[in-house]
Amino acid sequence: MQAHSQNAQRTKEAYDVTVIGGGVVGCAVLRALACAGLSACLLEKGGDILSGASKGNSAILHTAFDAPVGSLEWQCMQAGYQEYLQIHEALNLPLLKTGALLIAWSDEEAQKLPDILHKAHQNRVTDVAPVPLEQLHAQEPHLAAHAKAALHVPGEYLIDPWSAPLAYTLQAIAHGAEVMRRAEVLSGERVDGHWHLQTSQGMVRTRLVVNCAGNYGDLVEAICRPSPFAITPRKGQFVVYDKTASRLASHILLPVPNDRTKGVVITRTIFGNLLVGPTAEDQQDRTTAAIDEAALQSLHQAGVRMLPALAQEPVTATYAGLRPASQFKDYQIEALPTEHWITVGGIRSTGLTASLGIGQHVLGLVNQHFQATGETRPTHWPHMPVLSDYHPRDFQCKGSGPLVCHCESVTRREIEAALEGPLPAGDLGGLKRRTRAGMGRCQGFYCQANVVEMATQAGLRVDGIDAMPGGNA
Ligand SMILES: Cc1cc2nc3c(=O)[nH]c(=O)nc-3n(C[C@H](O)[C@H](O)[C@H](O)COP(=O)(O)OP(=O)(O)OC[C@H]3O[C@@H](n4cnc5c(N)ncnc54)[C@H](O)[C@@H]3O)c2cc1C
Repeated sequence: MQAHSQNAQRTKEAYDVTVIGGGVVGCAVLRALACAGLSACLLEKGGDILSGASKGNSAILHTAFDAPVGSLEWQCMQAGYQEYLQIHEALNLPLLKTGALLIAWSDEEAQKLPDILHKAHQNRVTDVAPVPLEQLHAQEPHLAAHAKAALHVPGEYLIDPWSAPLAYTLQAIAHGAEVMRRAEVLSGERVDGHWHLQTSQGMVRTRLVVNCAGNYGDLVEAICRPSPFAITPRKGQFVVYDKTASRLASHILLPVPNDRTKGVVITRTIFGNLLVGPTAEDQQDRTTAAIDEAALQSLHQAGVRMLPALAQEPVTATYAGLRPASQFKDYQIEALPTEHWITVGGIRSTGLTASLGIGQHVLGLVNQHFQATGETRPTHWPHMPVLSDYHPRDFQCKGSGPLVCHCESVTRREIEAALEGPLPAGDLGGLKRRTRAGMGRCQGFYCQANVVEMATQAGLRVDGIDAMPGGNA
């Protein structure tokens, strides 16, 4: 691949900073550092960026109204939220301003709403307010009748969970960053003031390392020191309903959260579907997020209890993601000045929102402990293709040419564009996330052969990879 060969020749030179892990957090950190003028490299062991936790989430841009008060998570979420609002138009990234309704379905849950409201205001999300039940049902006419009480959270929005981190990475590349995929960091040692990182693609020299390895964060941390945190992946399964179901909910419908999880959400996706999930199941396996029938059934039943008309809606897909949860509630972000290492671990369930804020925070640590760079000053703004169902798509534009994926209306030229450029799709999952080909009702049954042929002709490695792996539909 173009990006690989460009990068291979740089392995003899030392970078100012190397980010390990191309999830949404690593991509945003890379952007912050590269746009501040540092020579930066991203090492990702998967065939493409977003091969880990970041490939399957709920895609909500959270306000942090319910984050632990005063936590680093809260700080990074609010900074990330604000920065996304500031930059998304310049990057042509979509935003769907749905707002959310947090609904209590029992008297016991209703008793918790005043505390949630108080916490939201402590967290400076001051527009959160109670909604009278008549208004709730007027706004969401398909809601089951037994709702007891609700809060309106106007600032909770939906975004495209893959185009955003891809845009951050492309912007970093436009500012000189390099990205190596299929480059697993295997070990590292400090030699003459530099880290020598041994990867599956050879050695990379760097002055500073930022560990953003998600579900492998504690294992990568052990390269530098005994890890102060241990990752236990927390699986979240989802059911994706057909686009016809999206008429059933205009807001994001949130449950009353508990200590461990935000609970089962019903939300549209920016791609036009309706989503019910996630579950919260601890597991040891750091890579595989298996789907199980019983969990999906119980999600479906939970969805139907809240939106009875969902019972008639067909399911398009199912998927699961793994949250990089540690034994700590808060993010584990720390600079180790002597070791020339920054740890970014345990970014459990809010990393999509917080990623840009984490990037700012890491840049602050770099300035404080390692190298005075000043602020991020982006001068190049990649223009992202729009995949949102709520915004004009390529097939609606003049001269778009033939469709390849009819379910998701993906054009041939969209697929061709995703197979070239500074960071072409690195595997079929990456191609799917860049175009939505194969993500629709038939799940690739009709277009997969054509997509694979186009990918193969473009030199994409398709061997040994799940042909069209899943993710947020
Ligand atoms: C079910 C679910 C729902 C969620 N909903 C939301 C939501 O609505 N809103 C929100 O803001 N957040 C949400 N999140 C949280 C968000 O998805 C995560 O916080 C975020 O994806 C974590 O990103 P990361 O970059 O830390 O980890 P990852 O995405 O896992 O990235 C780490 C990367 O490091 C790579 N790697 C690991 N080891 C090595 C190595 N040795 N060498 C090189 N590379 C390596 C991995 O391949 C991986 O790509 C949700 C998460 C889940 C699972």
